[in-house]
Amino acid sequence: MTAALEAAEMGRKVTLVEREPYLGGRVIRMAKYFPKLCPPGCGTEINFRRLRANPRVTIMVDSQVASITGARGDFTATIKTRPRYVNEKCTACGDCEKVCPVERSDSYNYGMKNTKAIYLADALAMPFRHSIDMSVCKGADCGECVKVCKYEAIDLAMEEKTTTITASAVVHATGWKPYDASRIENLGYGQIKNVINNVEMERLASVSGPTEGRILRRDNGEPPSVVAMVQCAGSRDENHLPYCSSICCLVSIKHANYVREQYPDSDVYVFYIDLRAPGKYESFYRKAMEDPKIHFIKGKVARIEEDESGRAVVTAEDIIGGGKTRVACDLVVLATGMEPESKSVAPLMAKFNPDGFILEELQGDAGLIACGVASGPFDVTTSTQNSTAAALKAVQAGARR
Ligand SMILES: Cc1cc2nc3c(=O)[nH]c(=O)nc-3n(C[C@H](O)[C@H](O)[C@H](O)COP(=O)(O)OP(=O)(O)OC[C@H]3O[C@@H](n4cnc5c(N)ncnc54)[C@H](O)[C@@H]3O)c2cc1C
Repeated sequence: MTAALEAAEMGRKVTLVEREPYLGGRVIRMAKYFPKLCPPGCGTEINFRRLRANPRVTIMVDSQVASITGARGDFTATIKTRPRYVNEKCTACGDCEKVCPVERSDSYNYGMKNTKAIYLADALAMPFRHSIDMSVCKGADCGECVKVCKYEAIDLAMEEKTTTITASAVVHATGWKPYDASRIENLGYGQIKNVINNVEMERLASVSGPTEGRILRRDNGEPPSVVAMVQCAGSRDENHLPYCSSICCLVSIKHANYVREQYPDSDVYVFYIDLRAPGKYESFYRKAMEDPKIHFIKGKVARIEEDESGRAVVTAEDIIGGGKTRVACDLVVLATGMEPESKSVAPLMAKFNPDGFILEELQGDAGLIACGVASGPFDVTTSTQNSTAAALKAVQAGARR
């Protein structure tokens, strides 16, 4: 969004291609973002407004680039757009949801909630329009949504569209996905109900999430009194993600804040190897250290096991205190890293570094530019800064055609 807006505000025509039915990437799914701890909707709403006001940006949601050919100054991209089965007349009134008889697991909430087959991804979704999940919808055999829609917005016969565009430059901004924590055998993810990952914690803490913002145990819905954060869950590990995602320590400190704010009597344990809070983030970390109920324990977690009451028992080394420590927790949050999505975007003519991030600099002169987490594991500030730089490089690629 940032790269598209900056290039458009420099007078260029931009096509913004987004795979999901909504804009905002992973950020829009967070409850709050550090360091200010404000809801991400505030920042993204500013960009949505800039987008609405800029006729030079064509937004293509539900879309993916199938192929790119050509060279700097003269690329041709083929874009496939999935049918959404709901057109732009939709006002998101929600009458269709009330009559829809089918439920589906909601991937926006990482499967922690169900929606109807016709759904609105989020209360702040842009575009603010429903979608139908045709993998579960009964289609014309049901048609209840079509009957109830006052706006003739539902079209069950909608088909996939193919669009071809030409462009001077291509900006890869494909971001990341959470590392699959079930691959880390000793940490119990997927086996112990009260072991979750950090993106799930964001949805639990979000007012639009499955618990309307209340952080609750996953087995019995009770408020937790002891919560642990396990750092470097799969990160800096040759068997999983060999690199540091750079944000996980700050994310866990943010999560400790979420818990402490909701439950003043709670204790939070942060198990870490090294805590990384560079530059302006140092004070964010220092503030958390002042809270006597947030306990930072330097030591690698050896294992997590479930006890008979469903609590998750964390066993770790305690390098500074000495010996082993065992803490029985109501909820454990694994600080899983960001894995580049770019591995799945082979048609984009991209070149990758050994960790799977798209090479940024080497390709700039070729009119192929990467930004945000597609180019490295960054926070939002760094992502928006290098996206602004990407827009400039893209404009230069066009000027030198
Ligand atoms: C748990 C967690 C919490 C975090 N909290 C914070 C925080 O509080 N503060 C902070 O500064 N940073 C935070 N971060 C980091 C932040 O999420 C990233 O910096 C940010 O998401 C980077 O934005 P991006 O646009 O590069 O990638 P993304 O947010 O991943 O967006 C990429 C977009 O590209 C789309 N896409 C992917 N592939 C394709 C394709 N082939 N075709 C079309 N579209 C595609 C995706 O659907 C997505 O919309 C957090 C990270 C984690 C793991």
